[in-house]
This record gives sequence, C-alpha cells and structure tokens, in this order.
Amino acid sequence: MHPIKKNQSTYRGYLNPYVVNIIFMLMKSIRLIIIAVLLTYAGHVIAQRKTDSTYILFKPDRVFDGQQMHTGWWVLVKDNHIEAVGDAASITVPATAKIIELKGSTLMPGMIEGHSHLFLHPYNEVSWDDQVLTESRAERTARAVTHAKATLLAGFTTVRDLGTEGAGYDDVGLKTAIEKGVIPGPRMLCATRAIVATGSYGPKVLVSEADVIKGGEEADGIDGITHAVRSQIGHGADVVKIYVDYRWGLDNTAAPTFTEDELKVAVQVAKSSGRIVAVHSGTEEGMRRAIAAGVTTIEHGDGGTPELFRLMKDKGIALCPTLAATEAISTYHGWKKGIDADPAAVKHKHYIFTEAMKAGVTICMGGDVGVFPHGDNAREMLLMVDYGMKPIDVLRSATSTNAAVFGLKDLGNIKTGYLADLVAVTGNPAEDIKAVKQVKLVMKDGIIYSE
Ligand SMILES: [Zn+2]
Repeated sequence: MHPIKKNQSTYRGYLNPYVVNIIFMLMKSIRLIIIAVLLTYAGHVIAQRKTDSTYILFKPDRVFDGQQMHTGWWVLVKDNHIEAVGDAASITVPATAKIIELKGSTLMPGMIEGHSHLFLHPYNEVSWDDQVLTESRAERTARAVTHAKATLLAGFTTVRDLGTEGAGYDDVGLKTAIEKGVIPGPRMLCATRAIVATGSYGPKVLVSEADVIKGGEEADGIDGITHAVRSQIGHGADVVKIYVDYRWGLDNTAAPTFTEDELKVAVQVAKSSGRIVAVHSGTEEGMRRAIAAGVTTIEHGDGGTPELFRLMKDKGIALCPTLAATEAISTYHGWKKGIDADPAAVKHKHYIFTEAMKAGVTICMGGDVGVFPHGDNAREMLLMVDYGMKPIDVLRSATSTNAAVFGLKDLGNIKTGYLADLVAVTGNPAEDIKAVKQVKLVMKDGIIYSE
C-alpha cells in the first residue's frame, strides 16, 4: 500500500494540480462509460437468453404419444422439452418456430432399449469369451462409441445397458462422454460390472487354476453382495444387474446361484438407494427366488411357468423376454429361420412369451442387443409382433412402459413438459411394425441428430 501512495504523490509532484484533476475526472468518466457499455451488453445477453428460445413445430401425419395413435396432431418443441402436443388447431405456434413437415410419417417418443450391451458385438463376429479375454479395453470402448451412435440414429434415445461384461465401469465413462456432447449416443442407464456368484460366470478356461478376468463382479454371502451392490452404485450404477442362475459347473447346466436371502438383501440395498434391479434368469427356481426378492425386471425368463408369471403380475415385476437374442444365438448355431424347424430354444421362447402375456405380465422391450448388431434394436419389436403381441402394445412397451418400469419420469411419452426425445418414422407402425425401422428423424434433448 505505502509505495503506491508514495508514487501517487511523486506523480502529482510533476504536474499542475488542476491538470491532474482534469485527468482524474476524465479517467472517471471513461470508467463509467466502460461500465455502462458492459452493463448494456450484459443486459442484452440476459434479454437474449430470456426470449431466444428455439421452437420447432413438427407436422407429421400422426402422433403416437406413448399410449395411443392420433391423426392430425402436431408437436411443438421448445428448447429441450415438449411445449405443446395435440390437435393442430389447438396449438399456438410462435412466429419464430421452425416448421418441420413430416408427410407420410408418424412421430413417436424416442424409443427405449430395455436390454443392451454397448460393449459387446455380435458373437458370430467374435465369441463372447474372446471379446472379454482378447479385445483391449481401448478397442471395446472404440466399438462402444460406434454402437452408441448407431443406437441413437436407429431412434433409440435411451438404453438400459445391462453390464459391460469385463469392461469394468467403462459404461459410466461412455455415458459421461455422451452427456458432455463429446460423442453422439443415447441416454444411458448403466449397470456397470453386474454381479455374479463366485464360480458361476465366464469366461471359463480349460486350465481351472487360471485366474482370468470375469464378465461380472463376483460376490458371495450377505455382506459380499451388499458390498458389491453399494460399490457398483458408488461407481455410477443406475441399475443393479444380478445373475440369479447360470450355466454352471462341469455339466454346464443352468442352475441357481445366489440364495433367496442374498437376493433379498441385494434388492433391499439397491431399491432403498432408488435403483432398480434387473436379474438374468433362465431357470424356474432362479425366477422363483428373484420374484420372492422383489426385483424390478426379469431378463430372458426362460424358466417361466404360468404360476410364476401370475406371481410376477401380482408383484408388478416386468419381463424382458430378449426374443431376438435367443433367435440370433440359434442362427449362430446353424439354424436357418423359415427353412429349418424352430429349435427347442425358440419354441420355448414362444411358450414363455405367450404365457407371460396370458398372465398379464408387464413386458419390456429389450432384445439383449450386442448379441446381434447395435442399431438393429427394432428386431426385438418385430419379433414381439411375430410372437403374438399387437403392434400398438409393442410401441407402448418400447416407450411408455419401459419408461415407467425403469423409473424414467419425463421420457417415453409425448406430453407437455416431457423431454424432447422424439423419432419420426415413415408409415404407420401401429399397422405395420416394420415402420419403426424406417427412421426419418431423431431428436434427443431437443437436438436433431443425423448421419
Ligand atoms: Zn444381456
């Protein structure tokens, strides 16, 4: 402080006090002018933010709002959310709105994939074991980046990704990169590593003493599974994925892994933190334990019986049948669909799907994509129709139902205030479900994505 004062007095000493005063007054005025200019500019910026919202009006032939199909409806998007939806005459269109004509198209909510593995690619390209054991984490991430883009451009604006299968917590990193806008991709619900019982999960190697990377995190006992659930949530899991049974031991036959008590505590810990629980299950007993534990969704469900489906219905547990994965794996084993007779696994899938529908179980749309190519997510929807579901119910399953089951409160429907995740497809998918593959436009969070 002192040296400055000294300098000031020295400075003043050279000049006439009158001139000094004028200079100081001038400096003061300049400072005021600068402040005034800055304030005006800041005011302008603030004002711009207030009024400069982006409006986009979609004029499709019809709108599927997540529940019903409506002809003659329009949708108005403001920034990243739905501002208005309904009969064309009921919508007040701002003068600044950009109009997007979608003649011949259906506008629907961005679809939600219920069961994906962005870190896997089809097993007929490289076996699951070899992907986990020999592909570098960098390669797996590079693949996941391209898978994420393909998924989004196919109209799937959200995925529930059920395990990285040996790629650690990289799904959380991928999700972060998408959220930061580094790469295009869907919104992600991550399961991170998934939880398996010791000894039950692959890759299984010939030398039994060899300690190799596993496709899931091994955990055992009440304390062990509690620790794994908490640790995965801590690393970013939105959903806890547990393998309640698996092909296990020398006979390689599917058998239950965790006890009912272990599952109960895992579900309690996960749900009390606000997370949902998805379980892989292929056996009757595994499913029975999962239902008793109160999980959110059962994946595959090949052990389903009419009685178990009734219990699922009663407890509000949804089934994610993964028809497309069963069919894809059968073709990788040599089945030629439409030429050869249906293999036992496919026949059985028809049976459990029919029984689940009869019992009124909530059915999620989730194909286990990754087993078959990312971007071909809609394959599951086509099969759901083939297996006996009405197209409109399949559309509901892939939008509002998945959103409700996964706890996504502002997605899966076109409603005022909901997030602007939309997809336009050519044709009417309620008449011909194949239309969901004719994607014309994809919007996520108010941003339109294209190749
Ligand atoms: Zn899976």
